[in-house]
Amino acid sequence: EGGGNMAAGGAAQLEGWCGPEGPGAGGLALLSAVPGAPSCPHGPALLFVKTNQGEEEGRRFYACSACRDRKDCNFFQWEDEKVSETRLAAREEYNRNHQPSFTHRHNVERYKNFVLLPLSKRRFCQECQQLLLPAEWEKHLDHQFLCGISTAQLKSPSQLLYPLENKKTNAQFLFADRSCQFLLDLIIDLGFRRVLSVGTPRLHEMIQSKTSQEENSRVRSLLLDIDFRYSQFYTEDEFCHYNMFNHYFFGGEAARETCRKFLCQDSGQKVVMVTDPPFGGLVEALASSFKKLMAMWKETEKEGRNNEEMPMFWIFPYFFESRILEFFPSFTMMDYQVDYDNHALYKHGKTGRRQSPVRIFTNLPPSMIVLPVEEGYRFCPICQRYVSSGNQHCEICDSCTSKDGRRWKHCVLCKKCVKPSWFHCNSCNCCALPNHTCEKTDAGCFVCGKAGHKRSACPSLSHT
Ligand code: SAH
Ligand code: ZN
Ligand code: ZN
Ligand code: ZN
Ligand code: ZN
Repeated sequence: EGGGNMAAGGAAQLEGWCGPEGPGAGGLALLSAVPGAPSCPHGPALLFVKTNQGEEEGRRFYACSACRDRKDCNFFQWEDEKVSETRLAAREEYNRNHQPSFTHRHNVERYKNFVLLPLSKRRFCQECQQLLLPAEWEKHLDHQFLCGISTAQLKSPSQLLYPLENKKTNAQFLFADRSCQFLLDLIIDLGFRRVLSVGTPRLHEMIQSKTSQEENSRVRSLLLDIDFRYSQFYTEDEFCHYNMFNHYFFGGEAARETCRKFLCQDSGQKVVMVTDPPFGGLVEALASSFKKLMAMWKETEKEGRNNEEMPMFWIFPYFFESRILEFFPSFTMMDYQVDYDNHALYKHGKTGRRQSPVRIFTNLPPSMIVLPVEEGYRFCPICQRYVSSGNQHCEICDSCTSKDGRRWKHCVLCKKCVKPSWFHCNSCNCCALPNHTCEKTDAGCFVCGKAGHKRSACPSLSHT
């Protein structure tokens, strides 16, 4: 109860970061969202298929869209399973009971009362991750709590709340200040005035506090996130409890309408969506939700904008490039490396910086995205975009080909640039790491039948 409940949520998520080889072997594939899917506390479930090695076709089942860890949500139902009326009723009750103990409205009221308290009476329970009003102190006496919560602390909830990073199902990796500032400057320089922050609480928070300081550079942000703890700090116009894997607004029609209005204000001009989803795959589910948000924006019929898309920044690891482009062909991957505070491996340090694999994908013209020259990015006049310092323009490919920031080399046999550590293997007939085991590709992919990849990497399916 309390903390666990408030913090409920998460996402189909890998532990830590994964490469394209990542989860692979799992043999679990996502089928497209289906109307009439049964619901768990996290909204409509997604339809998956389990593909066992050697088996012709796996059995399909519904599972929670948001939680990969069964401990967080154990919803499961075979697609062809008959569910009795009694079980349906029990499930509905279960879903109702597994909503947060306070509504958003209630939390807004609590906040109003909280800020009226003198500093000495402002407590935050670290165990329940909850602002406490004096009448509630007693219930939390044996919990760890913080005292004297300042206005500044209330304005940076992402610092006050602990990041939900250890949970398998939630991956809260917060932007390093440098990257967050870069994003906000970029947004302002591009002339945007409204930001739909989808899973970017720290960016939202930076916009909120900047806005209250500088009236003339007013940028507004609406945060959509599954982490309900944030409803303690923001009004219903600033935060919607939202699941980005099934486009589900927990607050119902009113919340959806808040989002729609936000997008469509000023005929939908000057609005940009920024999202930094958990990296555990399910690109297909994310893409489907983002397309629905884009469609919401498009509803504002404005002349001469028929083919335009809502501007978007999708922050995701570079090895998902082909998957993202599959769903959003208009997107380009930027070279900018996004850094995080609480991810030791990819944290930016003054010395010995580890490269972050996380990039910005956008449907804005790449030439508009100015990357900081101080950090070594330079403009390639041929490609008409900013690239990493190590990213050399290849004459043969006629583009700056590096994906990871290192200098790549051209292989004439593969007719493309490859990672510096790779060499051309004659038995595989492609470039690979020197110590790779040559692959016998006589058998095609189990899913699509094509050669060159295994089932676990089949581009026609999403993988968890
Ligand atoms: N770098 C961002 C945070 C990204 S971490 C920042 O600093 O602002 C991923 C975010 O997505 C977290 O805030 C997490 O709560 C949210 N999230 C995880 N699963 C989600 C889901 N199913 N729907 C909506 N948001 C989700
Ligand atoms: Zn669930
Ligand atoms: Zn170039
Ligand atoms: Zn090349
Ligand atoms: Zn080669």
